[in-house]
Amino acid sequence: MKKIDELKQQKNLIVFLAIILFISITAFSTIVLANKNTVKVDASVVNIRTGPGLSYDIMTQVVGGEKINILTEENEWYKIRLSNDQIGWVASWLIGNTEFSAASNKLGKISVETANIRSEGNLEATILGKATKGTELTVLFQQNNWTQIQYNGQVAWVSSDLIEITAEKKSIIPTSITAKKNEDASIETVTVRSEGTNIRNGPSINDTILYKASKGDNFTYLSTKGEWYKVKNSDGKTGYVANWVVDLSGNKTAAPSANITSLAEATIVIDAGHGGEDPGAPASNYNEKQATLKTAIALSSRLKQAGVNVILTRNSDEFVSLNQRTVTSNQVSADAFISIHYDSTEIPNEVSGTTTYYYHENDKNLAETINKQLQVNNPLPNNGTRFGDYYVLRENSQPAVLLELGYLNHTVDQATIYTDSYSAFAVESIYQALNNYFSS
Ligand SMILES: [Zn+2]
Repeated sequence: MKKIDELKQQKNLIVFLAIILFISITAFSTIVLANKNTVKVDASVVNIRTGPGLSYDIMTQVVGGEKINILTEENEWYKIRLSNDQIGWVASWLIGNTEFSAASNKLGKISVETANIRSEGNLEATILGKATKGTELTVLFQQNNWTQIQYNGQVAWVSSDLIEITAEKKSIIPTSITAKKNEDASIETVTVRSEGTNIRNGPSINDTILYKASKGDNFTYLSTKGEWYKVKNSDGKTGYVANWVVDLSGNKTAAPSANITSLAEATIVIDAGHGGEDPGAPASNYNEKQATLKTAIALSSRLKQAGVNVILTRNSDEFVSLNQRTVTSNQVSADAFISIHYDSTEIPNEVSGTTTYYYHENDKNLAETINKQLQVNNPLPNNGTRFGDYYVLRENSQPAVLLELGYLNHTVDQATIYTDSYSAFAVESIYQALNNYFSS
């Protein structure tokens, strides 16, 4: 009997221990799961919206360092629970060290056995990992035979030879909201830039030509579809015209595109002037192309720190055509395109200081905001904001400015421009200005 009692006791103990073990494992995994789904906000301020897209209304904001609870993910947006139990949506690239563009709607498939995924679009860049044949990746955009993708929650690159664009990603934004976003309230008039411009019955070059417009013809803007504008002529006839063959005019104090109210939500294209076989203006120990690249890379790092999706038109000493630079800006629907240059004059020491250029009337606001900031503590004179007929501004459908940050053939400017302190001044001024521009 005694033996049986002992056995019974032992059995009870085992059951008890098993229950304790089960409870502790369950409790432990709940804690692990909770930690995994709680993320810290990296950007200084992020908008919490009522739905998964930039076109949804902002319900509240959270500040950097705050922790939020992720419930689900949909199309690069997180459904989240705030500390006060409110439910909202936040762009996934604004939190937890991830940074990728919202603009993408394409999917790609790796078409070779294994493909290297790199940190930048060149063969010297760090390999972040490998993707095997058939792996599906979100494609952000393509340039110079490199494809920018979303890889493990960050922006990465793969050679375009190794990936095939397979499909347009399905948009989960309701059509009513998409339609609302496609009307740009800042555009009033669309003006044809050259003689014989085709007006088509649909938004692509495959659509039938309705008639040809003359240089300078004005149309009433109706809506935007991809790279095309739906327009109406004076007779009330509607048609489509490509955005790269027209100039826009309208509301001078145009707000930034989409529904962006903070810099962290923006896609910024930084354009380091010249490069490769095009040295730009010469200085004693360096050329303009080196100075522009130094500033562009420093500005890029500063913006990335703030959670901004940054795209450089070049990140090494390579030649990039003016057309490619604007194509990049238009393709990614840049919220701002900033071209960095350094000036020179025919006669040395004639002019000194910085100048901010814009081409389209709509870009004046961005130019003035940046120039205002460049006047604060600038060691060089400020020559103000001017109209400038530069290719990268004229052919740009996105808000664009060109900054001449000093004269390379002026003794004072030249000694200042290549210093780290001047680079820091320029970067901080542009960063602050963009912050003001997107939050105003
Ligand atoms: Zn230049």
